Amino acid sequence: MYSKFVKRQLWKIPVFVLSGKLNWGVCPICESRTCFVEYDAWLRDHYRCIKCWSIPRQRALVKVLNEKIKDWRSLKIHESSPGGVSSTFIKKNTSHYVPTHYFPGVEAGSFQDGIRCENLEAMTFDDESFDLMITQDVMEHVFCPQSAFAEIARTLKTGGAHVFTVPFYQGRETKIRARLSDGGIEYLDKPDYHGNPIDKKGSLVTREWGDDLMDLIGKWSGLTTERYTFSDRRLGLEAEFLDVFVSWKITNVG
Ligand SMILES: [Zn+2]
Repeated sequence: MYSKFVKRQLWKIPVFVLSGKLNWGVCPICESRTCFVEYDAWLRDHYRCIKCWSIPRQRALVKVLNEKIKDWRSLKIHESSPGGVSSTFIKKNTSHYVPTHYFPGVEAGSFQDGIRCENLEAMTFDDESFDLMITQDVMEHVFCPQSAFAEIARTLKTGGAHVFTVPFYQGRETKIRARLSDGGIEYLDKPDYHGNPIDKKGSLVTREWGDDLMDLIGKWSGLTTERYTFSDRRLGLEAEFLDVFVSWKITNVG
């Protein structure tokens, strides 16, 4: 159950107990009792379950799936740019899971290393192909979110939903950090990169989403979005930017 890496960390537990950087609880991904350890003050990436090594946003996403999409295990799911233990957990618990990545230079709809290549802004899937779309910290990297959210709505069945995490800056409007222009990428702010499981360079942050996110999604895609946020250490849910969004396709918006 414990990975080799996690086992190597177990000797540190007394240190964390003494420093108060550890608490017991139930992990939504392990679905069992565990303890959560703070390896660093930036909890978003360092408040780990010692069994599955998940981080808070991954546990929050699975909690929202369990509570808001109760039958998710039997649904047809598309996850764009999967990575981490939450993606592994979702894949393991459903028989209709389609992962895709965007591989530059690879034809959309074809496969590389067994993974289908898709550009979120122009997918090759038929209309209404999926019950559920999942993205985890992806939507802050797309250059044309208008197209991406519209494509997500198009490929969802009516009644389906897009469940996603994204850093959300409450209290301010969305800020564009980078965009595409005729000359290539235009940086409106210092380039900021996040880790990318398929690219060592990382992924450029194009937008810091703010209070207008839900309205923009509605305008661009017709989807109706709800936001869930958490603070519950018993479930390992405490961190910066710990928001999960669910965008419902209530009517046929195609
Ligand atoms: Zn866990």
